[in-house]
Amino acid sequence: MTNLEIHDMVGYWIDKLGLTGWTITTEAIEKKSVTYADDVPESDKYFVGIQIDKESMQARIYHDRPLTDEYVVHELLHVKFPLEQEDWINKVTTIALNNKHYD
Ligand SMILES: [Zn+2]
Repeated sequence: MTNLEIHDMVGYWIDKLGLTGWTITTEAIEKKSVTYADDVPESDKYFVGIQIDKESMQARIYHDRPLTDEYVVHELLHVKFPLEQEDWINKVTTIALNNKHYD
């Protein structure tokens, strides 16, 4: 995926999720920059996370695997609903992705 495609994908979801005014950037990180416990299965050894600065309305998504709609929606929902737990975020991510098909 090119930087332009990532930019468009993130822009689409910023709009959709009502995060207008936020600046969301992404940064690919090295896989080896994240350490995992020995009991973490190989398939779970990946990292996608977001750092949020509410004051300046900026957030940065860090990822060590290619970004997908699912990852972007998940992380942006953390921006939109900072108090919600993982379970809820996962549920709403699925709903948002399903609704995309009706556009
Ligand atoms: Zn999460």
